[in-house]
Amino acid sequence: MVKLVTDHSSYKQHFVDFWQRYTLYNDEQLEVMSNQMTSSLRLDAYCLFETIQQSPLRQSIFYQDFDDLLSNLTCLEQIVNADQCLLLLLLRQWWREWSFALSMATKKHGQFGMKSNEHRTTESTSLEISKYTNLFAHVPIPLCNVCTLTGNIIRLNQRFIDVFGYDLDDTPTLTAWWLHAYPDPQYREQVQQRWQQALIDARINNTDIEPQDYQVSCKNGEQITMEISGTIIGNEFLAIFKDATQRLAAEDILRDMAFLDSLTQIANRRCFDETLHNQLELMQQQLKPLSMILLDIDYFKQYNDNYGHIKGDECLYQIAQCIAATMNHEKDFVARFGGEEFVVLMPSTNAKQAFNTALQIQQAITQLAIKHEYAELGYITLSMGIKTLNRPKAEEQLIFVDAADKALYQAKGKGRNTIVVSKE
Ligand code: GH3
Ligand code: MG
Ligand code: MG
Repeated sequence: MVKLVTDHSSYKQHFVDFWQRYTLYNDEQLEVMSNQMTSSLRLDAYCLFETIQQSPLRQSIFYQDFDDLLSNLTCLEQIVNADQCLLLLLLRQWWREWSFALSMATKKHGQFGMKSNEHRTTESTSLEISKYTNLFAHVPIPLCNVCTLTGNIIRLNQRFIDVFGYDLDDTPTLTAWWLHAYPDPQYREQVQQRWQQALIDARINNTDIEPQDYQVSCKNGEQITMEISGTIIGNEFLAIFKDATQRLAAEDILRDMAFLDSLTQIANRRCFDETLHNQLELMQQQLKPLSMILLDIDYFKQYNDNYGHIKGDECLYQIAQCIAATMNHEKDFVARFGGEEFVVLMPSTNAKQAFNTALQIQQAITQLAIKHEYAELGYITLSMGIKTLNRPKAEEQLIFVDAADKALYQAKGKGRNTIVVSKE
């Protein structure tokens, strides 16, 4: 897009005039002028910018990058210590801002139904530029404007600095941003690939840069998950940052709700089905046994009928928590199977170990001693059926549950508060 031409005589004189006028001032004076919105320095610099952008050659030149312009102005070859020259630094900084604002104005102008660039007056262009510069600076969303040709960060807004702590001195280039924001080299590489791909997709499909989550390290060491999207404007892109923390927390809650039984606060049936499927596959691969205990509260109908449904709910909660607390291994899994039935799934556990766990649960429930005057023992008890698959197969889900259920039925038949191990 930036096509450099050799004939720059039309604006060269303007530049030389500007330069000769302001090199007469010392740094202190330049500093004071640069801080005044309507100082002659600012106004003249802006007129120069505008003259160059609006030169008759503007179809073929568009010096968005001040350095491009400089390299084409041989008159400036004599500048000594260009890196420390305040006048040059100021011009370069303003050039970036005005170029960005102009490109935004050009991009948006169709949307706002403005007149064509060609016919706009100096005054209206200037107004739009200040409007967009202002918008960029003050919009309460972190924004970062990057030149895709050089990888230089052209501008950051105040919210960006407030949120991440990095300013243009810390992150003058995209490379510097990658290094600071993603200190872990492996993660950084992954993030760079994702972002580059998102840019490519946006260019190919002529769309915005798709939002994706990135774990950003702030200057103070804090980590924030940011949803980063953006838009491509010619040889620049504008990255837009949105804090994803709240959205992710809400998603976590929804996920938990989908897999948690709200009454007992342990895993629900859906979660059990998924875990069973996964564990069968895993144990098949690892050639390890998988054990299941199905548990059912004895005489629970009488409990409900005599103490009421609310007491019944409390009892279900206590039993569920008691079973969960009795588990010895982190990989052991407890869920509410339905109604007043629970299930325990134990990977890498043989029948004997499963029976011992069942005994521990029985003991814990006895110690809990929930009063049940209408049951034989006077307190709440459980019946349990155990099934172990020594060589589990992924497709045995139904057979597995069915065998444990049969063992549970036998335990009920044996007078309740009993444990039966399936021999099938
Ligand atoms: P058994 O010893 O043979 O297991 O007899 P039981 O009375 O426990 O078995 P039954 O299946 O006849 O009754 C189960 C009862 O569990 C019936 C139902 O009211 C109660 N129940 C199921 N879900 C809930 C629940 O969420 N809250 C309460 N309070 N009760 C429930
Ligand atoms: Mg039941
Ligand atoms: Mg029951």
